[in-house]
Amino acid sequence: MAHKGSKDDSTLCQICNNDNAEMFCAFCESKLCKICVGSHIAEDPQKHKIVKHQDRKRTVVLPKCASHLNERCENFCKECDTPVCSYCVSSDSHERHKFLNILDIFKKKKEIISNDTDELEQVIMPSYEGIIKQVESEEKKVEKEFETLLDNMEKRRKVWHQEIDDIVDAMKKNVCDMKMKQITAQKEHLQTLKTLLTEVQESILLNRNIIESPNVSNSLTYTNKNPSLKRFPSKLEISVPCFQPQEIKREMILQMFGIITGFSISEKEGGYMLKK
Ligand SMILES: [Zn+2]
Ligand SMILES: [Zn+2]
Ligand SMILES: [Zn+2]
Ligand SMILES: [Zn+2]
Repeated sequence: MAHKGSKDDSTLCQICNNDNAEMFCAFCESKLCKICVGSHIAEDPQKHKIVKHQDRKRTVVLPKCASHLNERCENFCKECDTPVCSYCVSSDSHERHKFLNILDIFKKKKEIISNDTDELEQVIMPSYEGIIKQVESEEKKVEKEFETLLDNMEKRRKVWHQEIDDIVDAMKKNVCDMKMKQITAQKEHLQTLKTLLTEVQESILLNRNIIESPNVSNSLTYTNKNPSLKRFPSKLEISVPCFQPQEIKREMILQMFGIITGFSISEKEGGYMLKK
């Protein structure tokens, strides 16, 4: 029986339990002291395989037979794909089967495992390391690209703010021009009316003077200005413009502001290759 962990490193003899097991039986996988070796191999000296304790890790341990519990398998049945002991070899259940030396199989298996390990070490592991490096650099790239994207949106926000400022500035300038025109027109109109009023007042004074004058000529040269003074200038009509804000259509603004495109997240089979 194989032991696990620290128990495997102990040097307790499995027969007398003394802490001086210097020997090892590769057939039974048991630790033995020199004294107990004799009794251990007594019943079948050829079967047991005694080596020094320190050599036990270099000693081949054959597999136990599944059918004959006290036997080890020196052969391998090709047809049954299983290790077989000497009893199996001559039994009916393996009649006319082909047997291979288990040590040859062992050697070949080790070669295969060694090749597999070489492949793991020289091809598969470096491939993974390369892929991880690539993904790590892509991770940084993604972060950078998002930073740029957000920067671009921020720039766009500033452009739009500036655009709104420019539009409002231009509209206000336009409105101020309108205001100037209307105020000027009103002032001019008022001035015209005031001038006419003055003319009316002057006519009244002139007329009174004529009325009170004893001079006949004055009355004879009198001209009636009333018809022209009764003709009022055209009435100035002014309409002050008003600002009519339009409904804010968010969908339309979004379309005009810009759209986010090209987002995807998916998995591609066969996207990674073995390093050559
Ligand atoms: Zn012993
Ligand atoms: Zn033994
Ligand atoms: Zn057997
Ligand atoms: Zn067989």
